[in-house]
Amino acid sequence: MAIAARWPSGFNAAMDLPVPAISYPSHAAPPSPVTVLRPAFPAAPLVFASAHSGRDYAEAFVAASRLDALRLRRSEDSFVDELFAEIPALGMPLVCATFPRAFCDANREPWELDPAMFADALPAWVNTSSPRVGAGLGTIARVVASGESIYRGKLHFAEAEARIHGCWEPFHVALATEIEAAHARFGSCVLIDCHSMPASSLPPRSQVDIVLGDAHGTACAPEVTLAVEEVLIAQGFTVRRNDPYAGGFITRHYGRPHDAIHAIQVEINRTLYMDEARVERLAGFETLRHRLTRAAAALAARIGALALR
Ligand SMILES: [Zn+2]
Repeated sequence: MAIAARWPSGFNAAMDLPVPAISYPSHAAPPSPVTVLRPAFPAAPLVFASAHSGRDYAEAFVAASRLDALRLRRSEDSFVDELFAEIPALGMPLVCATFPRAFCDANREPWELDPAMFADALPAWVNTSSPRVGAGLGTIARVVASGESIYRGKLHFAEAEARIHGCWEPFHVALATEIEAAHARFGSCVLIDCHSMPASSLPPRSQVDIVLGDAHGTACAPEVTLAVEEVLIAQGFTVRRNDPYAGGFITRHYGRPHDAIHAIQVEINRTLYMDEARVERLAGFETLRHRLTRAAAALAARIGALALR
């Protein structure tokens, strides 16, 4: 299946601070909004996704924002794509958004928009009343994670359309393609939707490393959730289920256990690997990456043996 790569003009890549920035002039061919890293030999019916670790910021987007780049970056699930970088070598695909979550949120319905953000009227079919829109965190977010407003002024609906057609849709086309391919090959598929959570989202001193969200058992068979939980506990992680994150759009949309497609959201505590204020990796980054890689390898073996149908 062809994956569309229409992209709003003026993208400027790589605001990942330790790496030299690569500048894409507005007239140059834009980078792809999604990266799909496929294994040479598919080995297990799992697909991994990272919707919120993109860090290619459009110059025009940063210019239209009242926030500086660092404050925009705090809305990312930073470096989650890097934490799972070994997944393809284990025989499973990894689908990553390259666009920032503050620019377009792929873990929302395609058209969850706040009419107060727009200078023109929104079409009647747009979902303007979801709790996410009310919180300022629709498909085009009004605020960053800190609650600060992103934009200096109002947007036009055409801008939202360009982002959704140029970012949201290609990400989901790519993700759906990998899920369908795994399902066709193995007869089942488990989607591991990878995110990270700010320490402030957890009660003080709760010491939770990872929150698993299976939409309270509706997106994933119990034996799959248990397998994910046990391979993480075996690597020494403290794991909690569905609290405070039960799973977003991706988990709920793709998780159809009765069709042998299971989805589970994995939220990693950012204090395990990054300085949240500075958006920098901590010394424990590589150790965490290895622990997650070992858990994924163990999960691949276990899911293969479950013979899900
Ligand atoms: Zn996320």
